[in-house]
Amino acid sequence: MLGPRQEFQSALFYEFSLEDHVPSNHLLRSIDRFVDLDDMRSHLRPFYSDIGRPSVDPELMIRMLLVGYIMGIRSERRLCEEVHVNLAYRWFCRLDLGDPVPDQSTFSKNRHGRFRESNLFRQLFESVVARCIKEGLVGGEVFATDASIIRADANKQNSTQKEDWDASSLDPDAVPRAVKEYLDVLDDAAFGAASEVKPKFTSHSDPASQWTGALKGPAFFAYSDNYLIDTDHAIIVDVEASRSIRQAEVGATRTMIARTRDTFGLYPQILAADTAYGAAENLNWLVNEEGILPHIPVFDRSRRSDGAFPATAFTFNHRANEYTCPAGNKLKKYWRKMSKLRTGVSKDGFIRYFARKSDCSACELKKQCTPNQPARKIARHIYEGARDRARELSLTDAYVDSQRRRKKVEMLFAHLKRIMKLDRLRLRGPNGAKDEFHLAATAQNLRKLAKLIPQPA
Ligand code: SF4
Repeated sequence: MLGPRQEFQSALFYEFSLEDHVPSNHLLRSIDRFVDLDDMRSHLRPFYSDIGRPSVDPELMIRMLLVGYIMGIRSERRLCEEVHVNLAYRWFCRLDLGDPVPDQSTFSKNRHGRFRESNLFRQLFESVVARCIKEGLVGGEVFATDASIIRADANKQNSTQKEDWDASSLDPDAVPRAVKEYLDVLDDAAFGAASEVKPKFTSHSDPASQWTGALKGPAFFAYSDNYLIDTDHAIIVDVEASRSIRQAEVGATRTMIARTRDTFGLYPQILAADTAYGAAENLNWLVNEEGILPHIPVFDRSRRSDGAFPATAFTFNHRANEYTCPAGNKLKKYWRKMSKLRTGVSKDGFIRYFARKSDCSACELKKQCTPNQPARKIARHIYEGARDRARELSLTDAYVDSQRRRKKVEMLFAHLKRIMKLDRLRLRGPNGAKDEFHLAATAQNLRKLAKLIPQPA
């Protein structure tokens, strides 16, 4: 039987409960169990005036921002529209059907003001990590680190070539916020102080972003999102924004390891990473200063591609400070007696050891050893001990396991870009990148908590 036509009839009274209309298996209902913002009001209180018009509830804004990052809604205008019409979003934000949704302009005012001054997003991120630890999701033994390049909100048309860029000519009192932040981080290890090499282009709108061609294809301005994760359940234990260059990313990892230890008392036995983290200085820091086993491929430029004997075919004698080659001859730093004692360490931290030309020219193995040079030389880093330790570790089964676990960071970045749609930043400046990365990492940890800890029946 054909049913009656649906006609719009507004009822005089409604009995409606949002609670009843959010499905029990909805992602936000699952996540809500782990969002604890009780301390936030007291944390923010000093940043509000005691007089004047009451503000929009900061907890409401944080909940709305979390909805945005969890559900991949990147625009604040769209977020406000979605919260207005979506029952589950309203429920998560503690808004009843008739409650007004804050205007999008409220977000930018608070982001750049109280939230940033109070380091609120860092607090929020750490509170969620603490919850992950409490729920037993962080083993604290094998950590992995990596960085992902995220496009900045800047373009080449509005930039200056390195020859014409002069940071000292900028007046901190007369420049936009993102430029002022750039001036503030010029001596910061994750930004200006990471390298003396000037980038090819500097953006006018966001000068702290890095001009990079690292993703092949056309170059662009970007920041690096650095993660330190516990590999048991891929919980992000720390996050840091940096310039998109290797030195800054390695520095960010050191910062994160130290901060995780100070904040949560987590001290990993193993750190897994890719070759970008395998420079001698970093391996030495991990092995000899931090006592962490580096499950990291050694960054080695001395590898031969011509099939000649690798450096590992030569034996080093610490006492005599010399190498012995496969033919049994010596390679030394200096063959002549030096009147002045020299370290022999070059700028890149390597000491070169040379075979005698007469030994090599008479050697039967020369073609396999040094086919194109009159005599063989071997470069040894001052931190070669740490490099050797990393090489030894790379032969173990635990290393293979760590490299498999390391892929979890890459999967988190893939999720960040594809599902949460954070492939381009909306906010400018190092603080904007920091805010976005903290909120995204918080959202990823919350999703993980919801997935791994089932709701009580
Ligand atoms: S070529 Fe020179 S360094 Fe190489 S094995 Fe022969 S003597 Fe030794």
